[in-house]
Amino acid sequence: MKTAANILGDALFATGYEVQDAPRYGAERRGAPMFAYVRAADRTIVERGAIVTPDLVVVADAGLLGIPAAGVMQGASEATWLFVNSTEPAQAIRAQWRYPGQVVSWPAGFTPPAMHNAAATSASCAGAAARMLGVIARETFESALIAQSTGRSAGAIETTRSQGLAAFDAMGGVDRCVPEGGEHPATPPASPDWIELGADDAALAAPDIYAQATSEQARTGLWRSHRPVIDYEHCNRCSWVCSTLCPDSAIRVDEDRTPRIHYDHCKGCMVCVLVCPAHAIRQVSEQAAQAQEIEP
Ligand code: SF4
Ligand code: SF4
Repeated sequence: MKTAANILGDALFATGYEVQDAPRYGAERRGAPMFAYVRAADRTIVERGAIVTPDLVVVADAGLLGIPAAGVMQGASEATWLFVNSTEPAQAIRAQWRYPGQVVSWPAGFTPPAMHNAAATSASCAGAAARMLGVIARETFESALIAQSTGRSAGAIETTRSQGLAAFDAMGGVDRCVPEGGEHPATPPASPDWIELGADDAALAAPDIYAQATSEQARTGLWRSHRPVIDYEHCNRCSWVCSTLCPDSAIRVDEDRTPRIHYDHCKGCMVCVLVCPAHAIRQVSEQAAQAQEIEP
């Protein structure tokens, strides 16, 4: 989404707008939810904070809609358009999540890129957003896609270009559906009140992905571009280093002390690769893993 925001920001800038685009990360490393925002205006922008009342929200992973902590719908109102990177019908998404505004998903017949293909997903999300705004010419958007790919291989540049343009073309039915937003004057932040943090009981605090309201619902494995693969011939069954330090508790240990990675929830942060004292875990790209049919 950082790259998608870059592409969209570049295209808006080349169109003649003043633009801000910025990513916002959490405290964790690779694999944690993040967002990026783009603010564009035909006049000087004095606001410097994150966008709190968006005109358009683009969601790359539909799974985040069900996770309140991800804050996908924060600030959304009846006037906020929501684009979801999904082939599910928009009305079904709107009804399921009781979204107050208009929802758009990919039109029937369009096949979005696989989630782990981050560059193609970025390009297609940017393409959808650009078309929904409707103020960016196709060739301007194409130039922004190519500029964003500078330094990459010719094949990678072509993939980004073709995926972005395919998305831009596919969204012709909702061209310019997002109206220009009104003024959003900055409001001074309120002073936070004192917050009492009570202790959770042990069942809730335990690092168990199967416990209720934990990351079981967040299939963070969808975002992974690389996966850790354990070489069981070199694993000395220390039984705790990788499983304890995995931030998503995605490594369980069998009764015989053998670690097992839960790929639905492994987000590919590679902490386990770094901490394994036996160097028994290696990093493999998702494409290579699927080509080699590496099984969990
Ligand atoms: S940290 Fe390494 S050696 Fe220890 S259980 Fe995990 S994979 Fe095996
Ligand atoms: S299994 Fe390894 S790569 Fe996957 S989330 Fe846990 S520490 Fe990160």
